[in-house]
Amino acid sequence: MRLLIMGPPGAGKGTQAAHVAQRYGIPAISTGDIFRAMKTSDTPLAQQVREIMDSGGYVSDEITNEIVAARLAEVDCVRGFLLDGYPRTPDQVETLDAFLAGRGEALDAVICLVADTDEVVARLLKRAETAGRADDREETIRVRQQVYADQTAPLLEIFRRRDLLVEVDGLGAVDEVSRRLFDALDAKTGGAPALSTEG
Ligand code: ADP
Repeated sequence: MRLLIMGPPGAGKGTQAAHVAQRYGIPAISTGDIFRAMKTSDTPLAQQVREIMDSGGYVSDEITNEIVAARLAEVDCVRGFLLDGYPRTPDQVETLDAFLAGRGEALDAVICLVADTDEVVARLLKRAETAGRADDREETIRVRQQVYADQTAPLLEIFRRRDLLVEVDGLGAVDEVSRRLFDALDAKTGGAPALSTEG
């Protein structure tokens, strides 16, 4: 199963990605997590990533594409994967398309977690109090919402046109959202993993 999960910062992608990945036995790959891990090393690239992330902007397509391609080439991705936070720009969509086409693979579905801006900003402000992520300051949160609206939300249309989009209401308890998501995904891909005919 090859899946993407999209949605605005704060929609709960990381949480739901973990549930979906477990259910399908595929790795959840979060570019945000990869970049956060990179940020801590002491190299010019790490410094660059740190500055971009802390401002709320996007890391360059060149760096991002390279990191994702390397990750998808790892052996645990042969049976599928769930990408969380990638692609986020038209260039990243093109690169992912070419990468998959080169391996004779295709996406099965693109999950979009739907949540309105006021709700997600409130969640991120709450997370700021507990998790202490450097990009969870109010000003940066606003920038991230805007960057998502300008650069990433328009990509949903591409996947809708390909008939891959599965939109799921991201409001409510975590388990409630998971249930909704699994149902929608099963309807799209033709059944729960145990009933599926592909190994
Ligand atoms: P959120 O969804 O809350 O914005 P993420 O953990 O997905 O959080 O991403 C955090 C930051 O990592 C982004 O604001 C951006 O700077 C960087 N980042 C993550 N994925 C990408 C990507 N595909 N392209 C460019 N930058 C990215």
